[in-house]
Amino acid sequence: MFSLGKNKTLLIGDAAHAIVPFYGQGMNAGFEDCRVLNQLLDHSSNWVTLFSEFQKLRKTDTDAIAKLALDNFIEMRDLVADAKFLLRKKIEGKLNQLFPEKWIPLYSMVTFSDDIRYSDALAIGLKQKK
Ligand SMILES: Cc1cc2nc3c(=O)[nH]c(=O)nc-3n(C[C@H](O)[C@H](O)[C@H](O)COP(=O)(O)OP(=O)(O)OC[C@H]3O[C@@H](n4cnc5c(N)ncnc54)[C@H](O)[C@@H]3O)c2cc1C
Repeated sequence: MFSLGKNKTLLIGDAAHAIVPFYGQGMNAGFEDCRVLNQLLDHSSNWVTLFSEFQKLRKTDTDAIAKLALDNFIEMRDLVADAKFLLRKKIEGKLNQLFPEKWIPLYSMVTFSDDIRYSDALAIGLKQKK
């Protein structure tokens, strides 16, 4: 995903991980690249290790948001008028109201949290769906 040509080049943003726009997260994922890169820069003086750590961290999360964005297209296309789906959303809202620490709907985890990784949101979302 990220070009490491002779360990001198690092791609971030859409150039590294363009996704379909159905979660509205493309720019946000690019900003996250900057945040993670900045954090790694604080702790590393070795570019080779830094690039490798960055790749490891971001590939997991950008693959996750790529999947979430595709899934959200299907949700928007097929499910928003589905009674069962709407009931599930209502139940999720209630659970979140009652147990805000224990149950955060997938959409909120992705869109409104600033400390939940896309890969964690995807995994938790699948568990909650089940
Ligand atoms: C319909 C739609 C809706 C979206 N909605 C959202 C949203 O709600 N929220 C969100 O977070 N994201 C959203 N996105 C995604 C967001 O727009 C992109 O993720 C973001 O713009 C990517 O920024 P970037 O800087 O990585 O790349 P870009 O914005 O593509 O910037 C790359 C720049 O490089 C320039 N360039 C290309 N080749 C060269 C070259 N050879 N030399 C010099 N310059 C070059 C281009 O002209 C461009 O200006 C949406 C995208 C689409 C298509």
